[in-house]
Amino acid sequence: MRAELSEKYDLAPSPELAEEIGDIYAKMSRVITPADWAIYAPYVKAINDLKAERNAVILGHNYMTPEIYHGISDFGGDSLQLAIKATEVEADVIVQCGVHFMAETSKILSPEKTVLMPDMDAGCSLAESVTADGIAEMRRRYPGAPVVTYVNTTAEVKAASDICCTSSNAAQIVGAMESDTVIMTPDQYLAQNVARDVPHKNVVWWEGSCIVHEQYTAKDLREFREWNPGTRLIAHPECPPDVVNEADFSGSTSGIIKYVTDEKPEKAMLITECSMASNISDALPEVDFVGPCNMCPYMKKITLEKVLYALDTMTGQIEVDPTVAEKARLAVQRMIDLSRELGI
Ligand code: SF4
Repeated sequence: MRAELSEKYDLAPSPELAEEIGDIYAKMSRVITPADWAIYAPYVKAINDLKAERNAVILGHNYMTPEIYHGISDFGGDSLQLAIKATEVEADVIVQCGVHFMAETSKILSPEKTVLMPDMDAGCSLAESVTADGIAEMRRRYPGAPVVTYVNTTAEVKAASDICCTSSNAAQIVGAMESDTVIMTPDQYLAQNVARDVPHKNVVWWEGSCIVHEQYTAKDLREFREWNPGTRLIAHPECPPDVVNEADFSGSTSGIIKYVTDEKPEKAMLITECSMASNISDALPEVDFVGPCNMCPYMKKITLEKVLYALDTMTGQIEVDPTVAEKARLAVQRMIDLSRELGI
């Protein structure tokens, strides 16, 4: 891939180019060294030029590395924010810097656009934990109960569900279901955290989990708090409930960004994927982001080189069977409509 690209683009490290596009570097100078920026700059320039040529837009998830999130993305956000953005932009091509289910969701909501995935192997442990057969099994176990499915799933699973949810609206969506029993898939921890927030519902769940968030333990948080008094602990609801209980705040990636931006704690530990803290660090110089973090191996498959290759060759196009896409779109649209109705 590199050899092929080098025939068309000058990708040698360039301190001169790094300086020339220093305004982009200013958004990540706290977390990327000048030497690394000189390596990234030729890729960033080539991608941004090619983007204009192709009438393309790059959507960067909050878990992308800073050179992708700040260097080439036109929009950053969580998976749903990005999918909604995909429907709003006037572009012919969308490059999804995230994982496969996100690109599928963009394609489902914007079937007329070409959606490119820079690495088809960028999967997700949650999305891979359940299939449409799994949804059918849950329906057999709990007859009549609606299926609320997290957006971190394949199009096939969304199509087999009644409505989707995100980590920011899950409790309200589940709470608004008419049935007493509600099936949540595929994240057992998100479901358990939601169950605590909607005690009037009997929430039952599929046993999937996120390999990043399930690694944290409540003991880790207690010990960290002892060693680092005054640090604000902020957990994503894909973490196990005892971890969420130990934290000072729990929210989706956009909820976490809002909390840290509003509160500006002196020290904060984000109990979520590593790049979150890196991506908001320069915008919040008064906050010291501390503590260990876990990387998502799927998200980290997306690199500048792969993005450039996908845009250059127009490879990695996402296709979703139209019948599946239509049913999946309905499940996502129901969530969007209900969220609006509930004022979320
Ligand atoms: S962080 Fe977890 S939920 Fe997100 S893509 Fe990685 S494995 Fe999936």
